[in-house]
Amino acid sequence: MINITIVAGARPNFIKIAPIISSLIENKSKISYTLIHTGQHFDKKMSDTFFTQLKIPKPDINLNCGGGSHAEQTSSIMVSFEKELLKNKTDLVLVVGDVTSTMACSIVAKKLKIRLAHVEGGIRSNDLDMPEEINRLLTDSITDFFFVTTRNAKKNLIREGHKKNKIFFVGNVMIDTLLANKNKLRKPEFWSKYNLISGKYLLLTMHRPSNVDSIEKFREILNEIDINSNTFKVIFPIHPRVKKMFINQKFVFNNIITVEPQGYLEFNFLMKNALGVITDSGGITEETTVFGIPCITLRDNTERPETISIGTNELIGTDPKAIAPALKKLFSGKWKSGNIPELWDGNTAKRIVEIITKIYS
Ligand code: UDP
Repeated sequence: MINITIVAGARPNFIKIAPIISSLIENKSKISYTLIHTGQHFDKKMSDTFFTQLKIPKPDINLNCGGGSHAEQTSSIMVSFEKELLKNKTDLVLVVGDVTSTMACSIVAKKLKIRLAHVEGGIRSNDLDMPEEINRLLTDSITDFFFVTTRNAKKNLIREGHKKNKIFFVGNVMIDTLLANKNKLRKPEFWSKYNLISGKYLLLTMHRPSNVDSIEKFREILNEIDINSNTFKVIFPIHPRVKKMFINQKFVFNNIITVEPQGYLEFNFLMKNALGVITDSGGITEETTVFGIPCITLRDNTERPETISIGTNELIGTDPKAIAPALKKLFSGKWKSGNIPELWDGNTAKRIVEIITKIYS
């Protein structure tokens, strides 16, 4: 019997592990798993809600390593995860995505000579100002088995010197979750309070340092969105990274409505019914691509170029002046319609579990 240890720490991780765990449960006669939550996101709205809504079993262990600077968080996760791995033997550590927990646990596993699998390996923004890019590079540099979302990610890894036979093009687990839940999406409570009408509002998310760490820039971006939203309401779920800005600063908007971070089912309901989405998230550009919803991305680069070349995403950079023309294009009804990238079909987790079972048989 193979035992694998799965690591999850932050919101996008929970969304990615859900289908993997469900596929592992279907194969429990061949493979057992231990789920470790690092505690990186500990807020109920950023963590527990996702376990409940996506029916992820309770983690076997919670390392409770939330809060602190990047270094404080990395080091406390490493110390606790090492103790855990020394206590409980495992055949394989499986990490997903690109958060601090992904990188910290990868290093620990590899130093203990445990094999490492990375789901969503190989994507590159080539922008070292993004903490996530550093996490991706460090994780991939020591990964044994890569599960990649696109052919392009495979090419990136081969270019970096990784062996072809360790890279498996399997598709996108985030889309497994989206497709598995697309008929369960539900209106958030505030839907009628704000008189929201399908196709007649925008959805906004922003939490990347390049947009929110300077208060002047953040204010300017929000003002541009507010005045160019054609009187459409703009629903803005506030990421905890951004919350402090709203506590310390006075913002007055005509159209932007700030709300708490949304559950997965509510957020994706909002996404599916919006005229368009404005974001600096990576995962959201994948979901809008699959739903065919126009997506305006406030970034200079992306590690997910297929959301542009195939999907509905457009990068407009981080200059607030780029927002007005992008919104004008959206309201003119001339936004491109996209297609769905190869293997983003809802069966990625099944393929991953099948491959792991074969490797260890
Ligand atoms: N999401 C959510 N509620 C929200 C905002 C986002 O459920 O209020 C989901 C969204 O559908 C996507 C993921 O969280 O699956 C993206 O998370 P985040 O923006 O934190 O991560 P990133 O993609 O930027 O790494």
